[in-house]
Amino acid sequence: MPDLRDCVWGVGLSWSAGMARRPLKVRLFPRAESTVRSGHPWVFKDSVKSVSDPGSPGDLAVVYDRQDRMMGMGFWDPDSPIALRMIHVGAAVAIDREWWLRRMREAVGRRDFEASTDGYRCLNGDSEGFPGLVVDRYADTWVVKVYSAAWLVRWAEIEEVIREIFAPLHLVRRIARNLLPLARELGLEEGFCGAEGREIVVFREHGIRFEAMVRHGQKTGFFLDQRDNRNRVAEMAAGREVLNVFSFSGGFSLHAAKGGAQSVTDVDISEHALAGAVRNFALNPGLRTRHETVQADAFAWMAGSRRQWDLIVVDPPSLAKREKDRAGALAAYRKLQVDAIRCLRPGGILVSASCSAHVRKDEFFKLVSAAAVQSGRKWREIWRSGHAADHPAGFPEAEYLKAMAIGFP
Ligand code: SAH
Repeated sequence: MPDLRDCVWGVGLSWSAGMARRPLKVRLFPRAESTVRSGHPWVFKDSVKSVSDPGSPGDLAVVYDRQDRMMGMGFWDPDSPIALRMIHVGAAVAIDREWWLRRMREAVGRRDFEASTDGYRCLNGDSEGFPGLVVDRYADTWVVKVYSAAWLVRWAEIEEVIREIFAPLHLVRRIARNLLPLARELGLEEGFCGAEGREIVVFREHGIRFEAMVRHGQKTGFFLDQRDNRNRVAEMAAGREVLNVFSFSGGFSLHAAKGGAQSVTDVDISEHALAGAVRNFALNPGLRTRHETVQADAFAWMAGSRRQWDLIVVDPPSLAKREKDRAGALAAYRKLQVDAIRCLRPGGILVSASCSAHVRKDEFFKLVSAAAVQSGRKWREIWRSGHAADHPAGFPEAEYLKAMAIGFP
């Protein structure tokens, strides 16, 4: 086992040549020590008892326990409420190129896709040992989204590792908005690294062709996390009139059409998203289902709607981005369920999702069930689920997506 000096040198020389800095020495309050030992990758600022130096975003930090034994290593970020994101728990190891290559290969090994899907998440950030780093593939284009300063200060090295593992034809770098000033200081912009590719890439999800806005779209250009739930909707859609609320570019709608829906109606506030849905239908001429779009504020539109449907999908954006938004978010979710259930014909199905990290799984499922009870109608739960399998969650906060289907006989 290498001793700590190896670890320090390993980090300083082989991983971040040219920017060798001494790792910071961090101590935590007792509760955070046990959280870290249990494998949770986040340490909040108020759990840090001391740090040897104020440090800079992305500095490597070595964590010591009360007995002065090394507990692990992480990336330090004095600008974030999550001051430390763990990359290793245990004794000293060399965090070098081989280390990252090995971890990325492990992530590849966890995934297994049929040929009909070439848009998926290759690397799911903190849950797979790469805090704040997401890599998504869309056909020949790989999109790297950076949510942590640690990867900006190590960009050259991580790009090399990604290229070695995935051999991407095109590689796009996307940077979280709050990191753009630091990126600029480091001379890093958003966009294609190397060979320029297309800003809109066509890929396939279960055989259906979709566009991904890899340069400017939300997230990395598409909501890949709902893939399995879209498949579930396809299986329930035959012969139904389908309403897709907060449709974005029609992900659920095209799958419903593939499953034999009679018609699909997309509701979204964004004209741009709806235009994307129309283009996605055009990319799949084999799907002959009638498709309609409504540009509207879905909350008001649902509240006023008198039309009836056989299957309604409700997948709003995150309504609680911060803990203090929670109560308002719960009320908004409740109202959406009640309005949707009112618009369901006998025999209808509600598929309801929440991607709010601050609304817990059990809480959301309870809320949807309570709305079903409140309707006074007979109902039965059909399924509950979360994100697709290429979004593995290694700790509770990473399980942000929940979805539930309820039938009203
Ligand atoms: N279900 C989609 C993802 C939805 S993302 C899929 O499977 O791909 C959330 C969508 O809600 C975005 O397209 C956004 O434009 C839309 N949106 C946000 N606020 C809205 C509002 N008040 N009314 C209607 N749509 C809204």
